[in-house]
Amino acid sequence: MASIDFEHIDKIYPGGNQAIFDYNLAVADGELVAFVGPSGCGKSTLLRLLAGLETVTRGTLRIGGQAVNTLPPQQRNLAMVFQDYALYPHMTVRRNLEFPLQMRDLPTAEIGRLTQWVADLLSLGDLLDRLPRQLSGGQRQRVAMGRALVRQPAIFLMDEPLSNLDARLRVQIRAEIGELLDRTGITTIYVTHDQAEAMTLGDRVAVMDRGRLQQVAPPQDLYERPVNVFVAGFIGNPPMNLFPAQLADTDSGLSLHLGEQRLSLLLPDALLTSWRAWLGDSLTAGIRPEHLHLADTDAAGLSATVVDAEYLGHETLLHTRIDGMTAPAPTLIARLTGIRPFAKGQSVRLALAADHLHLFGPDGRVRTNAAADLATRISP
Ligand code: ADP
Repeated sequence: MASIDFEHIDKIYPGGNQAIFDYNLAVADGELVAFVGPSGCGKSTLLRLLAGLETVTRGTLRIGGQAVNTLPPQQRNLAMVFQDYALYPHMTVRRNLEFPLQMRDLPTAEIGRLTQWVADLLSLGDLLDRLPRQLSGGQRQRVAMGRALVRQPAIFLMDEPLSNLDARLRVQIRAEIGELLDRTGITTIYVTHDQAEAMTLGDRVAVMDRGRLQQVAPPQDLYERPVNVFVAGFIGNPPMNLFPAQLADTDSGLSLHLGEQRLSLLLPDALLTSWRAWLGDSLTAGIRPEHLHLADTDAAGLSATVVDAEYLGHETLLHTRIDGMTAPAPTLIARLTGIRPFAKGQSVRLALAADHLHLFGPDGRVRTNAAADLATRISP
């Protein structure tokens, strides 16, 4: 087992393309950290640096406290699992599992013991005599995991290991991987572009954008306390609604101005004072889809126009555009329970709970995550 430290890591590829900028992260022994971000943000580059397949341009990379910048890949005691599982097609499952051990010249009895351990761990017992082409996608993925595990690595690196599987299987294998990693306690970095996968698997999730770490936090924290507009707009399905807004003072408290619309905010005193400091600033306001509802009266809430409705059975995702804002008007998605019929072009009024607003400054950094900030004040 081992910890991992990225210390001020820069990666510039030959030709001058800088893929990683001053990356800092400490992964504890036995922790599972999911690296997530859009395609091209540098996730695979970080894995390849860790595996020793690429060289670090600046900074120090440590495994178990030891600097490994110049250590060859085979001496780093880690195993990688990729999306294309790379099993040997002409070897049975058993031979595929044994092969990495035979390459290490382990005694036959030890090879037998480790193969059996992995077969039991991953329920591969019935499949040992089959060839890869006689397996389903999910089974092949499990064998690939087994082949990585059998070497008893200190660190597991997984690069989009489920992206070749269909959606239902992905959810199933994701649960299996989570359970397996819990049981083995191997320090793991799991790379994915899918925020749902990152959020369900990671002890912590590290969100990246264009080569820079944006935020690293446990899943719930990331959801409730995004540090900037990028993280707010990336995490969640659908993600947080974001729109330009300003705060203004009124006789009865504060209001939020969005284009031509004004929305009175019912705010607890604890928030009112701090929010007054931001009057007139060009803010980005955020609200999660589950905190938007249909307003009770025609006078309340925000006026918006329906552009689409996704009927999912247990809920309806209502896509609307805010009225009276300069084009392109921001879309607001509301998560409503049950099936609610809507027509495209229909006018609706959306109410939002002010104490669930998130406000970001002109630099994109968070000013407040209202609900989380309130909770902190109430329970010190
Ligand atoms: P991700 O895994 O998040 O999709 P990558 O780590 O693959 O992102 O890529 C990060 C950036 O580095 C991208 O801009 C990509 O084009 C660039 N890149 C990746 N590999 C190389 C390479 N061998 N040479 C030059 N640029 C590369």
